[in-house]
Amino acid sequence: MYQKIWLSSPHMGGTEEKYVQEAFDSNWVAPLGPNVNGFEQDIANYLQDDMHVAALTSGTSALHLGLILLGVQPGDEVICQSFTFSASANPIKYLGATPVFVDSEDETWNMSPRFLEEAIMDRVAKGKKPKAIIPVHLYGMPAKMDEIMAIADRYDIPVLEDAAEALGSSINGKMCGTFGKIAALSFNGNKIITTSGGGALVAHDKELVNKARFLSTQARDEAPHYQHSHVGYNYRMSNICAGIGRGQMEVLDTRIAQRRRIYNWYTEEMGTIPGVSFVTEPEGYFSNRWLTTILVDPKQSNITRETLRLAFESKNIESRPLWKPMHMQPVFEGCPFYGDGTSERLFEQGLCLPSGSNLGDTELTRIKAVIQDCTYFRDKTRQKEHVAI
Ligand SMILES: *Cc1c(COP(=O)(O)O)cnc(C)c1O
Repeated sequence: MYQKIWLSSPHMGGTEEKYVQEAFDSNWVAPLGPNVNGFEQDIANYLQDDMHVAALTSGTSALHLGLILLGVQPGDEVICQSFTFSASANPIKYLGATPVFVDSEDETWNMSPRFLEEAIMDRVAKGKKPKAIIPVHLYGMPAKMDEIMAIADRYDIPVLEDAAEALGSSINGKMCGTFGKIAALSFNGNKIITTSGGGALVAHDKELVNKARFLSTQARDEAPHYQHSHVGYNYRMSNICAGIGRGQMEVLDTRIAQRRRIYNWYTEEMGTIPGVSFVTEPEGYFSNRWLTTILVDPKQSNITRETLRLAFESKNIESRPLWKPMHMQPVFEGCPFYGDGTSERLFEQGLCLPSGSNLGDTELTRIKAVIQDCTYFRDKTRQKEHVAI
């Protein structure tokens, strides 16, 4: 059997071990140390806009602390994009608050500004103003942040951006992660760069980031003994993981270019297949193309996303349906939802294709063979051509 082709696997640049070695040499194996400071500085420099950064154990912990810093309490409501990975919404539950899910729009597949406003108005009319809004930049595509921020500002509700999949994506040059009051990044193993596991909380407000650092290191008050006046968390990134991150930051722009090349390759290979469509960048939008995703419209196509997925699987190639919306998940049953079925359709018709920056010609050839097997001979006009040949 061929080696497995993953959707997205870690891709080291080569200098990561140097930073990790430095940590060993100086015995900064733990706790914090120069790599954590260096990694935070690298991210801040990359995002520009005078951002401050706290490196944490995961994107999920960044979202959790973000909600705490925004004052979310038990019984509160938090608006969250429904079409996302569950980690966007779980931290709302950690705090005993209720997620209010909002559907996607067609252009970016992210939070619909129209349904966001409808949700806010309806929750306010019901006597409960949402405490925060969590838009997500899925698969690297920026959400419609201009419109979302305008609505959030109008109702004076803070935005917690889930930029876990979108490091390096931007709108008119402004980076994802710099739009909201707080943003979460992820360096999980499958993301565009990885620290083997990690995340970051970023914000314009230095005080907020300092509070995140305080809460993430067990919330110790200043005293020679252990004194606590807040509930703390053990969420800080280690100096070893941060060393990997420093090496990865050196190749981030290369990784983005590689992922975008993969996306372009798929559009060339699959762009003319009837019923297959891609999500394209609106004017001024730049996606890191973390994952290449397609929709397969069964009405226009001779295949479904499931035929394609199974064909890949039979050749030991990983592909995956798009995120199943949170309002359809049993764990979030009963949570309010505002939408028109867009994310349900995306889930039914969508597939994530292998998109790792480390895919080489051998892998792409294998992927291409499956696409051709699956689509070419099912296409009736081409079947005729084939017979004619
Ligand atoms: C990966 C991811 C997270 C969680 O990040 P972890 O580092 O895995 O905890 C949150 N939201 C989205 C959209 C993600 O893709």
